[in-house]
Amino acid sequence: MGAYAYLAPQSVQEALSVLDDHLKRGERAQILSGGTDLLVQMRSVDKTPRLILDIKQLAEANRLEVTDQSIYIGAAVPSALMTENVDLQALLPGLMEAADLIGSTQIQGRATICGNLCNASPAGDSIPAMIAAGAQCEIASESGTRLLAVEDFVVGVGKNALLPGEFVLGLTIPRPAARQKDAYLRFIPRTEMDIAVAGCGVSVSVDAAGQCTAARVAIGAVAPTPRLVPEAAAALVGTTLDEAALAAAGAACTAASSPITDKRGTVEYRRKVIAVLCRRAVAIAKQRAIGA
Ligand SMILES: Cc1cc2nc3c(=O)[nH]c(=O)nc-3n(C[C@H](O)[C@H](O)[C@H](O)COP(=O)(O)OP(=O)(O)OC[C@H]3O[C@@H](n4cnc5c(N)ncnc54)[C@H](O)[C@@H]3O)c2cc1C
Repeated sequence: MGAYAYLAPQSVQEALSVLDDHLKRGERAQILSGGTDLLVQMRSVDKTPRLILDIKQLAEANRLEVTDQSIYIGAAVPSALMTENVDLQALLPGLMEAADLIGSTQIQGRATICGNLCNASPAGDSIPAMIAAGAQCEIASESGTRLLAVEDFVVGVGKNALLPGEFVLGLTIPRPAARQKDAYLRFIPRTEMDIAVAGCGVSVSVDAAGQCTAARVAIGAVAPTPRLVPEAAAALVGTTLDEAALAAAGAACTAASSPITDKRGTVEYRRKVIAVLCRRAVAIAKQRAIGA
C-alpha cells in the first residue's frame, strides 16, 4: 500500500469539515466504511496517497431504525447486524437476502450496503434490491443533507453521483405496506463468493383478491449501472401475477438490459438469464405478499 493518513471523526460536522479542508487544499480524502472493497482496491488498483476517513464512529451512520412510516439504515451498519434484525427480515426479505449473498460471514461482519452502493459496481448485489424497495440515500455535505433515489445514484461503472465534499449518511426506505413484499435473485457460476452474471430485485403489492396494485423491478450486472425497469413493473400491475405477466416482465428486463460479454457470460446468455431471474423473483415476492 502507499502512504495514507487515517482519521475517525466523532461527529458528522467534523467529518464534513475534514472533507472540506482537504477539498480546498486539493488533497484527496476517501470514506472508509466496512473496507471490504476499499482495502482490496488500496492494495491493487488505487495506491495513491490520501486521507482515509472512517465513518464508523458516527452515531448517525450507525442508526438502524424501523418506524411505522419508514426504515433507516445508517451507512456504517454492517450487513450482519442488519440481516439479524427481525423487523427487517419480515419487512424487506429481498433486501436482506441480497445483503446475505455478499461475500462470506466474515465479509458481512464488516461490509455495508451503503458501501456496496457507493462502490458503484454494475454487479453490486444489494443495489437492485434497494431500488426495488424504493430506497433513497441521505447525502451529507457542508451545505446540509439531500435525498437521492438509489436508481439515480450510480452514474457509471465505479462512478456515483456524490459531489466533492459529500458522503452518504444512510438509506431511508418507505415501510412496506401490508401485502407488499420484495425478493432478490442473482445468478453466479459458482455456488457462492462470486460476482453476479445477472441480478434482479423486485417488490410487489397485491390486494385482497391477489391482483398486483404496484410493483418495482430493478436489474443488475446486465448494464453499466443497475437499472429500474418501469416497463417490467407496468407489465405486472393490474394482473394476478400470472405466467403471462411474469413472462412480459421478464421480456421487459431483457429489453432494458445492455450487457457485456466477459468470462462469466455472453451478452445473449445474460439477456436470457435476466428474464428468468425476473420471473422467479416476482413469483417469490408474490407468494410472500399473498402470505403477508
Ligand atoms: C471476498 C469478497 C467477496 C465479495 N462478494 C461480493 C458479492 O457477492 N456481491 C457484492 O455485491 N459485493 C461483494 N464484495 C464486495 C464488497 O464486500 C461489497 O461491495 C460491500 O458491500 C462493500 O461495503 P463496505 O462497507 O465494505 O465498503 P467500503 O470498502 O468501505 O467502501 C467501498 C467504496 O465506497 C466508498 N464509500 C463507502 N461508504 C461510503 C459512504 N457512506 N459515503 C461515500 N462513499 C462511501 C468508499 O470510499 C469506497 O470507494 C465482496 C468483497 C470481497 C472482499
